[in-house]
Amino acid sequence: MTACQKCPSEAMIHIDYSGTDLCEEHFVQFVEKRARKEIKQQGRSPKGSKLAIAVSGGKDSMSMLSMLHDIFKDNRDVTLTVLSVDEGLVDYREKAIKKVAGFCREKGIEHEILYFKKEFGITMDRVAELGREHRPCTYCGVLRRSLLNRRARELDACKIAFGHNLDDMAQSVLMNVVNGDVQRLVRLGPHVKVQKRLVPRMLPLRTIPESELKLYAELKKIPFLDVHCPNRSRAHRLGFLDMINGLEEQTPGTRHSILSTYDQIIDALRDHYPPANLNDCEKCGEPTMGEVCKACELLGKITDIDGTLQ
Ligand code: SF4
Repeated sequence: MTACQKCPSEAMIHIDYSGTDLCEEHFVQFVEKRARKEIKQQGRSPKGSKLAIAVSGGKDSMSMLSMLHDIFKDNRDVTLTVLSVDEGLVDYREKAIKKVAGFCREKGIEHEILYFKKEFGITMDRVAELGREHRPCTYCGVLRRSLLNRRARELDACKIAFGHNLDDMAQSVLMNVVNGDVQRLVRLGPHVKVQKRLVPRMLPLRTIPESELKLYAELKKIPFLDVHCPNRSRAHRLGFLDMINGLEEQTPGTRHSILSTYDQIIDALRDHYPPANLNDCEKCGEPTMGEVCKACELLGKITDIDGTLQ
């Protein structure tokens, strides 16, 4: 029997990148400690504020929701509002949102569902039917971020929390480096500067690997939908995920090194690439660096081929 490194109990998990063996209780603490540290480092929510939480129903966002609920349930100064986006992915998203709704009902947390069909006049199922050049995930990500920012701003939320894990962060850093997109690299978040009409992003899980979040959710019996979106195989990010997984297998700790490098250079990058002055989109009024925001630009492309949004 291998003993836990924190107590005499039997270890149930071996952490490859640190060589640590932990029992169930200390593993749960190990996960929560990193999330709490990030929440503290990313800035406290002021008294009387509202924290918006983007929750899709997968393991990451449901684990984040459970942790934030535990942290803030006895804090009368901060209220939580959960926002779920229904992109119109039949037989997938409604099942995931049911998990979110059930959890929020049980814990007494405010929960809102935002629909692509209602807000943009189109579903992701319809976008996925369009030509090859229209990658569903490009539309989905841009429209979802726009919708969440708008609603969080309407709610006067001080921040919006997203469940990006370490694997997501390492992928995003690598992808932006490979694409040579420094501006986007600087904007990855968490956000430190408040920009006009843009609700700052909080990323409590950014240092925790995906596999640990899955185990955490299972051990804590947190409900989540353990199924991938039908469009996932068309996602541009998937190649980078394979790359990161391969590197991590060869050299455990690669994901941490990528994020740590990013954290060490981000201040210098921000000095060099300060946040752009944002304009109001000519079509929808949402913040944009140009004249028309990316969401309106993409919706325009669909209208051009579809004639009308469906
Ligand atoms: Fe949207 Fe792509 Fe994620 Fe599916 S895999 S939910 S289409 S971003």
